[in-house]
Amino acid sequence: MLTVKDLNVHYGGIHALKGIDLNVEQGQIVSLIGANGAGKSTSLNAIMNLIKYTGSVSYKGKDVKSTKTMDLVKAGLTLAPEGRRIFPNLTVTENLTLGAYARKGPEVAKDMDWVFELFPRMEERRTQKGGTLSGGEQQMLAIGRALMSRPELMMLDEPSLGLAPLVVKDIFKIIRTIHDSGVTVLLIEQNAKAALEVADHAYVLEVGKVVLEGPGRDLLKDPRVQSAYLGE
Ligand code: ATP
Repeated sequence: MLTVKDLNVHYGGIHALKGIDLNVEQGQIVSLIGANGAGKSTSLNAIMNLIKYTGSVSYKGKDVKSTKTMDLVKAGLTLAPEGRRIFPNLTVTENLTLGAYARKGPEVAKDMDWVFELFPRMEERRTQKGGTLSGGEQQMLAIGRALMSRPELMMLDEPSLGLAPLVVKDIFKIIRTIHDSGVTVLLIEQNAKAALEVADHAYVLEVGKVVLEGPGRDLLKDPRVQSAYLGE
């Protein structure tokens, strides 16, 4: 569904991605783990055409290098950014409505009902300003907003960042539910354990390169992953 080949990104003199290959099959959950600065967010931003890159990205069999971000969203590819990137001065409902900017009509209301079903907390707080939500709630809103574009492939940027363990558990439960409803997922995470447990396939990124890949279950048992990312 998504194939990334030889992805390179430079920020001025910094070579942030040094030839990354990734593959996401329809129906999978794929995780990308790595330490701070490994290039995880850069990878997703490049795929969404938010930054310049060399190499190739194809989505549903089509090269999308010259496809505008908005048109990628219309084609079912969405990025749920890290939670604090919601609109702080807009209400929960307004934030969600913006997620459906490419669409109109009764379908949008139906999708909002689905988001409220997934996140009852968002329904309770529908008139509250995004900026006044807790960290976990803002993360739920960011995921909810991305869902409002009806993604076929949803990319999530560190959905568990800064959240309490119980909330992290909830977020991963929701990711599974979203996946079970038919959405393919590409997840980037610093929480390696949770990300590998949920992943059909996973990649380990170190300073701009993929250094390991395999089924999530296998990587959980890999001694290199255990000592570097699982604190074992
Ligand atoms: P984190 O988990 O800390 O968010 P990450 O794996 O997502 O890390 P990136 O944000 O992709 O890492 O950053 C990769 C590298 O590129 C880092 O060294 C970072 O400092 C650098 N970088 C990222 N964005 C920019 C930018 N706009 N200008 C210059 N350098 C950047």
